[in-house]
Amino acid sequence: MSTDTSPANLHELRGGLDDHGTALPGTFPLDVGGELREPTTWVKNVDPATAGTLATVASATPDEIDDAVVAARGAAPGWAALAPSQRGTLLRRLADVVRRDADVLARLETRDTGKPLTQGRADITAAARYFDFYGSVVEGLLGDSIPLGPGSLAVVDHQPHGVTGHIVPWNYPAQITARSVGAALAAGNATVVKPADEAPMVALAYARLAREVGFPAGVLNVLPGGADAGSALTAHPDVDHVSFTGSVATGRLVAAATAGRGRPTLLELGGKSAHVVLEGADVSRAAPVIARALLLHAGQTCTAGTRVIVHESLHRELVAALAPHFEAATLGLGLTDPTVGPVVSEQQARRVQGFLERAESEGAVVAGRAPAVEGLTGFFVPPVLFDQVSQDTELFAEEVFGPLLAVTMVASDDEAIAAAHNSRYGLTGAVWCQDIDRALRTARGLDVGQAYVNGYAPGGGVELPFGGTRDSGYGREKGVEALREYSRMRTLFVDIAGA
Ligand code: NAD
Repeated sequence: MSTDTSPANLHELRGGLDDHGTALPGTFPLDVGGELREPTTWVKNVDPATAGTLATVASATPDEIDDAVVAARGAAPGWAALAPSQRGTLLRRLADVVRRDADVLARLETRDTGKPLTQGRADITAAARYFDFYGSVVEGLLGDSIPLGPGSLAVVDHQPHGVTGHIVPWNYPAQITARSVGAALAAGNATVVKPADEAPMVALAYARLAREVGFPAGVLNVLPGGADAGSALTAHPDVDHVSFTGSVATGRLVAAATAGRGRPTLLELGGKSAHVVLEGADVSRAAPVIARALLLHAGQTCTAGTRVIVHESLHRELVAALAPHFEAATLGLGLTDPTVGPVVSEQQARRVQGFLERAESEGAVVAGRAPAVEGLTGFFVPPVLFDQVSQDTELFAEEVFGPLLAVTMVASDDEAIAAAHNSRYGLTGAVWCQDIDRALRTARGLDVGQAYVNGYAPGGGVELPFGGTRDSGYGREKGVEALREYSRMRTLFVDIAGA
């Protein structure tokens, strides 16, 4: 083991980052108990933009996960005993150094995930906001007192769970790690984070930065890995709460494992979010927002807004307004800041291609397609706008996680709501209509975790509670609500004699 306390250390990660080719940022070991640790197993981190090797990253074994849980368990009492203001100060310092190193971190996130650099930068800005937000609002997380009369005092306060496990997917690792770990640390938990081994770099960088600003050893452990590492974390008897973001299938395994040992879990799963465009919508306002949300990170956003359910009176106008966004979309390496970067892996590219071919064979009509680019060696799928997508097709029902948008026409508001619910997911949704009463009635009818009216900010801001209904999961990240999620209430009752 080697202790890594140098503020300059993060800059070692810069190697090769300005190169648009296949230069390697280096190796990324585990970060356990406040120290970098050589892992038992290294894996290649594939560059989605080139299909070459980007870096060599640790892939944690169950024993290494166990070591991290032991480190977190050891650190938890001291961390919980700090005043919220002390934890908050450290989190706000972490936000400061994330902002200081934003350029390096944004490039790491871009190289690791493939997304355009502007989006990588936006993710780092949001990550710093999460650390700032939770470092600040934790000081205002008030408890309660319950009036039972003069003979007693009843007080309810928030206590941390103890050790929290965080399983993070590859699509938004910088933001998802920050939102979940920021809230858990603020609430007084010691954390063990398992990023996906496809994209672990920024989560590992957070651990280095946390050390630099003075976080105690063991409160933030980061161990990239795959399914074995994830299931070791969820099954570990000393992990008190698990936050999982990822697919429905894996989420159910995680929930079963935590339920089996009687511990709470939070599931942030997939989505098939709908834009409901009612009669009287302002198409010129809706179209760019719908297109942008879908093209963001090549459609690999759980809240992408992948279905457009439009009233027949606006159908032609809306498709005509959406198509140019697809036809003008540029594909390229993330660092060159195109409209759309690659998808994360060859397997994902093949999966999206399969959806695309089946949609065409099931009768969907291509109404707009980005031009392919010659000479790209990475995992690129040109965005496609599909019109006349039937509600009984796979493209309408299933999460693609790629840049395919499905447009379906309806004849009434009731039909639109029924179509929006014709999916097992309930993550987010949007209603577009200039008649605000009608828009609100419809938005309130949507069974989703976040509903937008005449706008769409996929996933919402730092302050807005976020999570799903039905197969999109349960529990809430983001906002003050996440502090409640990462704590449990404790009641203190005092019997006052002689009152
Ligand atoms: P995934 O379920 O394959 O993997 C997610 C994480 O779980 C990874 O870190 C993976 O290593 C880990 N994992 C795999 N098997 C495990 C096991 N048996 N036990 C514990 N952990 C295990 O999902 P993915 O393909 O990486 O991510 C894409 C999915 O994530 C999509 O469905 C997307 O909609 C969803 N997602 C949801 C949100 C949200 O906030 N709701 C955000 C981003 C992504």
